[in-house]
Amino acid sequence: MIEAVGLVKRYGNVTAVDGLSFTVPPGSVTGFLGPNGSGKSTTMRMILGLDAPDAGTVTVNARPYAAYRRPLHEVGALLDAKAVAPGRSAYHHLRWLALSNGIPRSRVDEVLRQVGLASAARQQVGGFSLGMAQRLGIAAALLGDPPVLIFDEPVNGLDPEGVAWIRGMLKSLAAQGRTVFLSSHLMSEMAVTADRLVVIGRGRLITQTSVADFLAAGRDNNIRVRCTENDSLAAMLVERGATVRREPDGALRVTDVTADEIGEVARVRGLGLLELSLQQMSLEQRYMELTRDTTDYHATDPAPAPTPAAR
Ligand code: ADP
Repeated sequence: MIEAVGLVKRYGNVTAVDGLSFTVPPGSVTGFLGPNGSGKSTTMRMILGLDAPDAGTVTVNARPYAAYRRPLHEVGALLDAKAVAPGRSAYHHLRWLALSNGIPRSRVDEVLRQVGLASAARQQVGGFSLGMAQRLGIAAALLGDPPVLIFDEPVNGLDPEGVAWIRGMLKSLAAQGRTVFLSSHLMSEMAVTADRLVVIGRGRLITQTSVADFLAAGRDNNIRVRCTENDSLAAMLVERGATVRREPDGALRVTDVTADEIGEVARVRGLGLLELSLQQMSLEQRYMELTRDTTDYHATDPAPAPTPAAR
């Protein structure tokens, strides 16, 4: 479990994190979402004791990260995959980390196998692709078999097979009861990987909720319906308070009523349903809807302002 309470971090006159409170429970994958510059990395750095908050606290399993004597046993983290001495081999990088945390040598081979790097173990890290560096970073995070894992953009640089692999791994780590917290700018990936979301904007919490509830609350969600008598169904639904729009092909787009209610109205009136499908906003659309008001930089008119000389 990760618990942040009233976290504040200022850099000069920029407030990067502004009174942020959230929890990341064990047993699920929690996605950390927010526009660029909204304070995700700063928050992750504070969780790991790499940055000190100006106010508030953050604990990992009820203690601050800095209180752990052998932190790799408590929290595994991947922040910057390329932050590894380039002249070292993957094996030696992990061996050195293991030694400093009292982890047996056998565990190094184990995690190298787990992330698919066993055959590249003796190669210098400097020659690794970004995808291989990501795998090495994940191996380092897993080294101490920690109950809490934090990943900043873990699928960056991975090919589709690698992306599917990490998705499966994150889910299985959560299924083992671990706390898994990850940031990603790939919304479609987050939608299929995360169970829960912590959404922030301008350093403040916008919402923390399950992915299912986050999507279900979309303002533009609607139901597309076709039946044997679209006109009568439309009239009955409007009577029940639904908003009904017509599609060019005659189908109805219905909001403010559930699919169950539509099915029931059709059944009672003896209308045959030909189509009943929930049209849900994607995670990306829903995220845009919620963060529209908190994005620092909106696209502006690209036309240059006239210079004095041009007048
Ligand atoms: P995100 O990870 O969501 O993109 P960051 O946590 O990197 O956001 O940044 C949040 C804000 O804090 C940004 O305005 C960024 O410019 C600023 N910031 C982050 N780190 C520093 C730093 N070391 N010095 C000054 N400003 C910083």
